[in-house]
Amino acid sequence: MPEVKLHRRCNRNRNRSKRRAIYCPTHGCYIDSVSQKYPLFADRAGQLQQRGFSRQKALILMAAKTTVSLEGEWLEAFWCDQCQQSKWYHVKKRASGTPKKESCIYEVLVVSSELWQQATGVIYPEGNPSVGEFTRRHARMVSYNGSKDFQFGD
Ligand SMILES: [Zn+2]
Repeated sequence: MPEVKLHRRCNRNRNRSKRRAIYCPTHGCYIDSVSQKYPLFADRAGQLQQRGFSRQKALILMAAKTTVSLEGEWLEAFWCDQCQQSKWYHVKKRASGTPKKESCIYEVLVVSSELWQQATGVIYPEGNPSVGEFTRRHARMVSYNGSKDFQFGD
């Protein structure tokens, strides 16, 4: 039954392409995730406007002290074989292609100190903390804030 064979090959390809197309900005090679994703939050109206909110809507959200997560953007640490170290990157995911053949483009940016603050409320003077250090600090931050970040207009 040739159809069955075709299906199998198709599935295998799909599995292989599950690896996200995220590359080292220096070397252009695949990099492997070594952390979870840490969402980014907007803390200024301007950041929301840059991402397509109207000025009025952005000001309302900020005035309500709502923390708005930035959709499709996060911090994640990756290991690069050629860098021989893991680094934190600001990843932006964008859909591309057609609805029938959907794919994603990942933009990989070096993390600025402003972004560290957006993700954690903590500034990292040394710029690129180790994965363990960041995870510990993030866990502390979350326990201080509780779940207030995620409540919308109650
Ligand atoms: Zn590299």
